[in-house]
Amino acid sequence: MSEKIVYSALKPTGDLQLGNYIGALRNMVRMQDEHTCIYTIADMHSITVDCVPADLRRRTYEFLALFLAIGLDPNKSTLFLQSMVHQHAELAWVLNCNTQFGEARRMTQFKDKSAKNPENVNVGLFSYPTLMAADILLYQADLVPIGKDQKQHLELARTIAERFNHRYSPTFVVPDGIFNTHGAKIQNLLDPTAKMGKTDDNAGGVVFLLDDPDTIMRKFKRAVTDCGNEIVARADKPGITNLLTIYSVMKGITVKEAEQHFVGVGYGDFKMAVGQSVVDVLAPIQARYRELIANKAYLDQVLKEGAQKASYMAQKTLSKVYRKIGFVTPK
Ligand code: AMP
Repeated sequence: MSEKIVYSALKPTGDLQLGNYIGALRNMVRMQDEHTCIYTIADMHSITVDCVPADLRRRTYEFLALFLAIGLDPNKSTLFLQSMVHQHAELAWVLNCNTQFGEARRMTQFKDKSAKNPENVNVGLFSYPTLMAADILLYQADLVPIGKDQKQHLELARTIAERFNHRYSPTFVVPDGIFNTHGAKIQNLLDPTAKMGKTDDNAGGVVFLLDDPDTIMRKFKRAVTDCGNEIVARADKPGITNLLTIYSVMKGITVKEAEQHFVGVGYGDFKMAVGQSVVDVLAPIQARYRELIANKAYLDQVLKEGAQKASYMAQKTLSKVYRKIGFVTPK
């Protein structure tokens, strides 16, 4: 086991989709055997936007069951629910007091999200990056796999960690981001110029991990292609490139190999082959998911044990922080 600590979190807002699987979950499974992994369902981040309580509750279990079905293993990783580990909120407060208003105000995600939802620009949305910094720094994480959208937030986490270390003496590991290169970004099937996302307006172009096979095939049948009839990955062919990327990941081959496989094939047959490759990967995951979601007692046990493990690690860091900033902690 390597000495590296990896931290990763997914927010239960919107249903998990193929981009999450390709860009995040699949790599999280792989990393379990190489590193010490801390994996979080970040429900405290979910409430920074409007969130129906019943949906949050349902999704939390769905996320957990899907994580387990995909292969995240609570015996290998620390897998837990953020709100069950109170140290996240506590460290976030300390970090809020060590982050400048101007720094937080520069975050482009805050600007984007508040422009999209002008009726709910809450303070939590503004301080989201300091909670995220607390999530990571609590576990002394070395590596944080992130999408490009989180790059700025990770930079801020590094700045906060460095500042705290400088001001109070070394306390936090300064984390590095790692970016996935192969299949880094999966695009919406109906608009290949936009990223496939959990909360897309264009849901017809999003393949959800719990979509049944007919729905998946229908979505691929309707997928937007490009002019011409060549099946090659090229900048002027975003639709075909996206489909080739998906196929290559599903089959564990390179995009070049996928191109060779489809020489002389028509767009219609190509789209069906890509759809089928996704169905073949998701079918066993969904079968396992159905068993797990029916077993709430087991899921609750995973949550409790995960929170205990996480809390033990988190408390070590938090106690150190409290001591350093001058909070009295009688023995
Ligand atoms: P989000 O669903 O945007 O909260 O993202 C959760 C994780 O999934 C992050 O690591 C993202 O980079 C990854 N992810 C989400 N959507 C995609 C996508 N369309 N392509 C690749 N990775 C994605």
